[in-house]
Formats: sequence, C-alpha cells, structure tokens
Amino acid sequence: MAKRNILLKDNPALRMISRPVREITPRIRTLLDDMTETMRAAEGVGLAAPQVGVLRRVVVVETEPGTVYELINPEILESEGDQYNLEGCLSAPGEMGYTHRPMSVRVRAMDRTGAIRDYSVSGFTAQAFCHEIDHLDGILYLDKADMVEPEER
Ligand code: ZN
Repeated sequence: MAKRNILLKDNPALRMISRPVREITPRIRTLLDDMTETMRAAEGVGLAAPQVGVLRRVVVVETEPGTVYELINPEILESEGDQYNLEGCLSAPGEMGYTHRPMSVRVRAMDRTGAIRDYSVSGFTAQAFCHEIDHLDGILYLDKADMVEPEER
C-alpha cells in the first residue's frame, strides 16, 4: 500500500465528473488499498478517488474504526429523513460547516470482488456516504454548507 497526495479544494480535478469502473482490475484494488491508507493517515472518515487525482467512481468510508466500506460505482437508491450536522473534508483542511443530509440512505455499489451489494446506513455514516458520492460528481460540501468556519482545535 502507498499513501497518495490529497488534492485541495481549488484543484480543478475536484470539479470533474468521475467515470464508472467497468472491471475490477489489480489497479482498482491497489487504488482501494491506497485510499484507505491515505484516509487513515489523514485521520479522515471518508475519501473519494478524485481527491487523490483518479477520476473513477470509487469511495472508501470508515466511520467506525475497523469497518471500511469500499464503494465502487455507488448509487443512492433511496434516502429518508434529514440531519443537519457539522461536516469537513480532507480537501479543505481546517474548515467545517453545517450541511443538510438524509438521515438514512440505501446505496448500491460494487465491492472489490465485483459483487453488487446494497448498504443501508444512517446517521454519521449516511452523511459520509453522501459527502463522498457527491465528490464523484464534482460537488464539494462547501457548495451546500452554512456557516463554514475554521475548525476549533
Ligand atoms: Zn470530501
């Protein structure tokens, strides 16, 4: 595994639409491994491939330590409810803002074996799924956040 560089918010790559993965290759599995290592090193809870400069629809989320969701070509099938919570992004270090997100979502994605799986998640994990899936369409949480402020330390 290797840690990759995280692009910062003004990088134009973060505004591009990422392409679907058509086939699981060793390169995709390496990307997943590297993304998890990069996310953990940065003490984040999620990372999308465009944040490391790879315009592919690949996301990792780890809101509970030890449980890594690897989502390839994720699609939100259903969303329910509303939550309004603080959010940050590894591409915008030192900033946080409040966003509205669904309280729960059902997401369909491919895993690293190529199997299609459905995930029903809620609360903080649903927030992280939505944040990371937005990245695949060039959307940053800063576009929809209120009261973006320096993170308190
Ligand atoms: Zn982000």
